[in-house]
Amino acid sequence: MENKNWLAGVDVGGTTIKLAILDEAGSFITKWEVPTDISDSGHHIPGHIASALEDKLYSLDAGFKDIKGIGVGAPGFIEADTGFIYQAVNIGWRNYPLKERLEKETGVPVFADNDANLAAAGEMWKGAGDGAKNMLCVTLGTGVGGGIISEGFVLHGAYGMAGEIGHITSVPEGGAPCNCGKTGCLETVSSATGIVRLAMEKIEASKAGALFDQFENTGMVTAKDVFDAAEKNDQSAKEVIHEAMYHLGLAIGNLANSLNPNVIVIGGGVSKAEEKLLNALRPHFDRFALPKIAEETTFQVARLGNDAGVIGAAWLVKEKG
Ligand SMILES: [Zn+2]
Repeated sequence: MENKNWLAGVDVGGTTIKLAILDEAGSFITKWEVPTDISDSGHHIPGHIASALEDKLYSLDAGFKDIKGIGVGAPGFIEADTGFIYQAVNIGWRNYPLKERLEKETGVPVFADNDANLAAAGEMWKGAGDGAKNMLCVTLGTGVGGGIISEGFVLHGAYGMAGEIGHITSVPEGGAPCNCGKTGCLETVSSATGIVRLAMEKIEASKAGALFDQFENTGMVTAKDVFDAAEKNDQSAKEVIHEAMYHLGLAIGNLANSLNPNVIVIGGGVSKAEEKLLNALRPHFDRFALPKIAEETTFQVARLGNDAGVIGAAWLVKEKG
C-alpha cells in the first residue's frame, strides 16, 4: 500500500502537548492531547511524542512511514533552521536539540518553530488569514505574542527573535516592569494581564464605579469585564480600554507602516471580546497607519483557537518536508 503522506503537528505547552494528524490539504484526520512531563528538564518529551504518534498511527492502520514529517511548536527561543531550542522556560528545555532527539525517536523528518510563529502560520493557512501572503498575527493573552508572515514566509530574523511584538516599547519612561527584564513593553499595557493591571489601578484610585463594584462582589476582574463595563459607559473602564488600545493601535500601526500586511489577525483570550475589541482598536490604528494602509488593511479575529498551533506545525511540514 502506498504511503499516505500525512502531516503530523505537535504543539508543546507547559501543561499539555497537543497533537494532530492532518492530510496534505490541511484537514484533520485526528487530534488529541497528552499531559506534558516537564520532569528532568523536559528530557522525556520527545519519547512521549513519539509513542503518542506511534499508538495513534497504529490505531489508524498506519505507521511512521505514512507521515511526511513532524512539525513541532514550543514556547521560547528556537532556531528554526536547526530545530535547536535555546530556551523554553515553561518546558524546562535549555540548549536542547529537539529536532535531533525527535528524529532519533521516530525516524521521520522533524521541523520546529516558536509556537506563536506557528499559530500565525496556522491562521494564514486555514484560519482568519485565509491564505494572505502578508499577515500580522497578534495574540493577546497573559502576554502579547506575535507572528509575522511576509511574502508567504514566517519572518524569523537573524536569531529567530523576529515577531516579538509584545516587547515593543510602548511606555518609554516610567512603564511597568515586563517579564523580559525591560519596562513599559506593549504587553504590560495591552495584554489581558496588562488590561487587568490598569483596571486595578483605577479601582484602587477611584473606589467607585462598575469595576469597583464587581471587584468588591467577586474578588476579580477580567479583561473581558473591562470591555463589557466600557461598553456600558463606565468611565474608569473606558479609560483603561482607551489606554490599552491606544498603545496596541500605535504599535500595530507602526508595524503595518513597515510591513504592509493584507490582514491583521487578533487572537488569544482578549479576542473573545471580538467586535468590542476591534471597534476600540481600529480608530487608533487608523490614526497611526499611513492613509493608504489604514484604508486597505483588514482586521480579523483569529478563527482556529487552540488548533492554530498544530495546524501551523503541519503547515511547516508541508512547506519544508
Ligand atoms: Zn518585555
